[in-house]
Amino acid sequence: MGGHKTIDIQLTTTKKEKPDFHNLGFGKVFTDHMFVMDYNEGEGWHSPSIIPYQPISLDPASVVFHYGQTVFEGLKAYRTKDEKILLFRPEKNFQRLNSSNDRLCIPHIDEELALEGLKKLVWMDQDWIPTVEGTSLYIRPFIISTQPYLGVSPSSQYKFMIIMSPVGSYYKEGIAPVKIAVEQEFARTVEGGTGTAKTGGNYAASLKAQEIAGEKGYSQVLWLDGKEKKYVEEVGSMNIFFKINGEVVTPSLNGSILEGITRNSILQLLKHWNVPVSERRISIDEIYEAYQKGQLEEVFGSGTAAVISPVGELLWNGQKMIINNGETGKLTTDIYNTVTGIQNGKIEDPFNWVLEVKED
Ligand SMILES: *Cc1c(COP(=O)(O)O)cnc(C)c1O
Repeated sequence: MGGHKTIDIQLTTTKKEKPDFHNLGFGKVFTDHMFVMDYNEGEGWHSPSIIPYQPISLDPASVVFHYGQTVFEGLKAYRTKDEKILLFRPEKNFQRLNSSNDRLCIPHIDEELALEGLKKLVWMDQDWIPTVEGTSLYIRPFIISTQPYLGVSPSSQYKFMIIMSPVGSYYKEGIAPVKIAVEQEFARTVEGGTGTAKTGGNYAASLKAQEIAGEKGYSQVLWLDGKEKKYVEEVGSMNIFFKINGEVVTPSLNGSILEGITRNSILQLLKHWNVPVSERRISIDEIYEAYQKGQLEEVFGSGTAAVISPVGELLWNGQKMIINNGETGKLTTDIYNTVTGIQNGKIEDPFNWVLEVKED
């Protein structure tokens, strides 16, 4: 893997029209440029470049289409009031991408080079970072296996890309609780499976349960462990926290849960605030019992897209647990305000989480 690490840059000649930043959805429009880097055996990762955003052409036999050998990441860039551009713990995303790579037999990327490419890309397309309250630029790094081969074995060729999309506020009318159904039939993953990796297959496996819950009026499902359907794991694309009798509990990383960067940040923040917090195995029965005793005080999910998503109702075994009268709890609100405040530069960052993107 020679020293060929200079990022080649090819500017677009036709800048796209910007969407209405007051009316953005999630992941529907993309910026002017993208980062691309290829891998093949012998050369390793090579030719890092930033090029105009465009479709790519792949052989129909590419491994990714058949066997799903792929990984991805998700993070955001924010524009502060004083016009700075901030990324939130981006080095964590590239570390996690490499640990997902390990699980999927994909060769490691150079994390420093990926971060350099990302910073360049964000700087170049900075006009796409929306400034309306609650909006941000969503960043999607991902790797696909591109060898044309129908045999089942790790691909000998890959493509790493970073694309970016301006996204609206997750909450149009302020932070609002969601209704979640506890999944009792399907499993997303099991211990020993690919749950600890951010890979497409976990999402493909989740769609059916999600669809059924949606038909019943629930926005997401809460996954239990795949073996006993007893211990709480996580929600669709979020980790989960319960405040029970003054203590915050989140499921420990048991080998099938994705280790969220937001989760990690919240744990640090709660320790900093001296709020009692524990990572441990927690069963759905324990949660229902706490609910019946009036001790289930707050429930919230955590992930890059929503940052914090309060849960107002949990459906389990036909029982509806209404949490905090279906309203957002005090601690949930404090965490939301603090984490988003640090992310968009409104609040001092005592943890050194944010990274400013500057011209180099
Ligand atoms: C990405 C993801 C999360 C949240 O991770 P963050 O780093 O906080 O965005 C949680 N669960 C799953 C399954 C995920 O894919």
